Amino acid sequence: MKINFVGVGEAFDESHANTCLFIEDASLLIDCGYAAVQRIWKEDIHNKINTIFISHFHADHTFGLPALLLRYHEDKREAPLTILGARGIEKYIRDITELAYPNNIDKLCFELIFQEIDSDSKIELKNATLTFACANHIDSSFAIRIEKDSKSVVYSGDTGYCAEIVELAKETNILVHEAYTSQKDKEAKELKKHSSFLSCGLCAANSACKSLALVHILRNSGNPGAIEEEIRLAYKGTLLIPKEGDNFEV
Ligand SMILES: [Zn+2]
Ligand SMILES: [Zn+2]
Repeated sequence: MKINFVGVGEAFDESHANTCLFIEDASLLIDCGYAAVQRIWKEDIHNKINTIFISHFHADHTFGLPALLLRYHEDKREAPLTILGARGIEKYIRDITELAYPNNIDKLCFELIFQEIDSDSKIELKNATLTFACANHIDSSFAIRIEKDSKSVVYSGDTGYCAEIVELAKETNILVHEAYTSQKDKEAKELKKHSSFLSCGLCAANSACKSLALVHILRNSGNPGAIEEEIRLAYKGTLLIPKEGDNFEV
């Protein structure tokens, strides 16, 4: 199974597009922030996406959708598109698209399907199985596990340290985890709903995942050496700090 790191940034990073992943084996895009859409066309994956999973309703994970939908319309897309997300996903996507481009969402030239998920959902997709866990961020934030041919990928979404994600990520081949800032900075800012590098390392160690990839790192938040040093306090497995356009095969 291959992961394409379409974007790896947090909300307001001038150097990196918002965190967005593509799993070709499942034709699945994960999250679609406002700075991710151009990257989807640049990576030439737009025609391979059948399903989009939205981890939570924050703009850096969702506000690319109106542009994505309208670009597909201009490109005369014919294939249906399914959007998976928490309860209320259809209203949320309809509302932001209506604000962005009024009176368009019902005129799209392809079928748009919404599917609500919760932590108990299990979805079969192109021979891949999707399962979910509640994340520790805003209400209705979810992590996802994609499993195919005994290989698996887990994406945490935005989250503070979360026992449910440790469970979801048990022995996964790769855990793609939000790594917001250093433990010292997290404590100083009293951030509870994002992860320090140390808490990512703890989640990776406690889940016994085979490799850990860090995304959504706060802009200007330390050099890779300092990040690795903090991760290594807890986790000894393979560590990646991917850049946009990187691919990783499990
Ligand atoms: Zn968020
Ligand atoms: Zn975010």
